[in-house]
Amino acid sequence: MDFVMKCLSVNQKGNLSIGGCDLTDIAAEYGTPSYIMDEDEIRKNCRVYTNAMNEYYDGKGIVLYASKALSCKYIYRIMKEEGMGVDVVSGGELYTAIKAGFPAERIYFHGNNKTDDEIKMALEYGVGRIVADNVFELESINKIAGKMGKTADIMFRIKPGIDAHTHSFVQTGQIDSKFGVALETGEAEEFAVKADSMPNINVVGVHCHIGSQIFELAPFELAAEKMMNFIADMKDRHGIEIDELNLGGGYGIKYTESDTPIDYDKYICAVSKVVRGISESRGVKLPFIVMEPGRSIVAEAGLTVYKVGAVKEIPNIRTYISVDGGMGDNPRYILYQSEYEAARVCDPLAEKTMIATIAGKCCESGDILVENARLPEVKAGDLIAVLATGAYNYSMASNYNRIPRPPIVMVSGGKARLAVKRESYDDLIANDLI
Ligand SMILES: *Cc1c(COP(=O)(O)O)cnc(C)c1O
Repeated sequence: MDFVMKCLSVNQKGNLSIGGCDLTDIAAEYGTPSYIMDEDEIRKNCRVYTNAMNEYYDGKGIVLYASKALSCKYIYRIMKEEGMGVDVVSGGELYTAIKAGFPAERIYFHGNNKTDDEIKMALEYGVGRIVADNVFELESINKIAGKMGKTADIMFRIKPGIDAHTHSFVQTGQIDSKFGVALETGEAEEFAVKADSMPNINVVGVHCHIGSQIFELAPFELAAEKMMNFIADMKDRHGIEIDELNLGGGYGIKYTESDTPIDYDKYICAVSKVVRGISESRGVKLPFIVMEPGRSIVAEAGLTVYKVGAVKEIPNIRTYISVDGGMGDNPRYILYQSEYEAARVCDPLAEKTMIATIAGKCCESGDILVENARLPEVKAGDLIAVLATGAYNYSMASNYNRIPRPPIVMVSGGKARLAVKRESYDDLIANDLI
């Protein structure tokens, strides 16, 4: 394949095109930098998961889009139409989903430190589940629900002792994480017993999320095994019935040629075997399954288009290509040294004669987008695209150096439209009172 993103092609003019739209046209219309998302690709990714849920669990489950990957009103509309649920981790994400008309009962509210206001907001809107992280929070939920005359349907987050990232996972019994209650130490069991005794709490399910950008099946199988055994233990020891099992997200995507993702439905197939097996062997009923992919729904459906400014060649050291965006719109390199691939928009498949580092325009030496990118010759005024930026870019963007955030342009079937407009300088000073 020519590009890490499946939804890219080169059109008759020799320009890079996404969703049937020429990137030079989009850049001319909406300016640079801009995030461009292929809506059809997002929908296709949703359907891989929802179809697999039907196939491997007879539809007895729900796929939640983990909306921290990209949160704006339009994405919640897409998720609603695709029959997905969503997970939110803050009052702001919850508010955005509700304002987009997303049905509250299909919203799951996560986070390790929900404020009382956020809990109240969630109960007022009537979210489907609040995913409690710890006993302090559980007590707050019980109290606030009590005052409102409600019963909160909760799941609670368990650290199953598996820590997985990319191509490695460790079974640590790791309890040094800010998220959830530990399985090994008996903390999770204590939590279940306590929650079960609370008048305004209904314990519906358990949740785990073992990492992100994972390329293996085994850590997911192991997590499912531990969680199913926990469900069976709670039934055997305490008569507590846990009906829902939320196995989180973390499915890896292709940022560069060296990434080797597995088809997403394979995860669901592998895990369903484990879940069904333990359900039979331990005599517990098959739980309702919840999955929470975020990155794998949107990352490969999006790119960011920039205009090149200065090209600075430091002899025998490195060439820097400076672009009109940077860590403000994509902080993932400065945060994690994440790798990306880039393409020149005009004639992207021309011979790659240049190795250069694509830098942003912020006052930080670490403001890099792609280190040692291989590109055809690039000069000032050219457009370049950084690929697979659909997840954790816009949602992590900042106004550092008071640079306005780029717009999100949605393309579908050869048509482009603005989903989020570019911030203006006046937006930047809108909250400055004196
Ligand atoms: C971030 C997160 C996800 C999604 O992770 P991806 O790697 O984007 O798939 C799912 N569940 C929880 C609880 C998360 O925090």
